[in-house]
Amino acid sequence: LVAQPVSLSAVVDTTLTLLRHRLESYDVSVAVERSRRLPEISADPDQLKEALVNLVLNACEAMVEGGSIVIREETGVIEPYGRVVALRVSDDGPGIPPPLIDRVFQPFFTTKGEGSGLGLAIVRRIVEEHGGWITVMSPETRGTTFTMVFPYEGERG
Ligand code: ADP
Ligand code: MG
Repeated sequence: LVAQPVSLSAVVDTTLTLLRHRLESYDVSVAVERSRRLPEISADPDQLKEALVNLVLNACEAMVEGGSIVIREETGVIEPYGRVVALRVSDDGPGIPPPLIDRVFQPFFTTKGEGSGLGLAIVRRIVEEHGGWITVMSPETRGTTFTMVFPYEGERG
C-alpha cells in the first residue's frame, strides 16, 4: 500500500475519465453527488480507483437495458469509529436476490457467464487494507448500493 493524502473526489474524477468510453458503450448515465468539503484520507489512489472501477462496471453489467448510476460522496461520524468518508455507488438495476447477497464478496462467486467472480473480493480487500469496510444493500424494490467506508481519524477519533 503506497499511502499518500488522497481526495476521494479526485478518485471519482479520474475513475470516470478512465471509464468514459466504456460508459458510453453502456446505455447508462452517471451522476456524482459531491460532498462540500470532503477531507483527504491517507490512501493508495490507484487501489481506490481499481475498487471504484469494479463497482461501476458491475453496475453497468447489471443494467443491460440501461439505467442510471449515482456515485455519492459522504462524510460524517460513525460510532465507535469516529469520522469517516464514504463513497456510495448506487444503480437502479435488478438488484441482488436475497439468497445470493451474502455470497457476492466470495472469490469466484459470479452469476455471469464469463465472470471471474473476483471483482468484489478485490474491492473488499482494498477497502479493508485501508482500514475501512464495504456494505451492500439491495432493497426489495429495486437497485443495489455498495458503500465503501473509510475511517480517517483513528479509532474513536
Ligand atoms: P463478476 O463481476 O466477475 O461476476 P464480482 O465479484 O464483481 O464478479 O461480482 C459478483 C456477483 O455479484 C456478480 O456476478 C453479480 O451476480 C453480483 N453483483 C455485483 N454487483 C452487482 C450489481 N450492481 N447489481 C446486481 N448484482 C451485482
Ligand atoms: Mg465484477
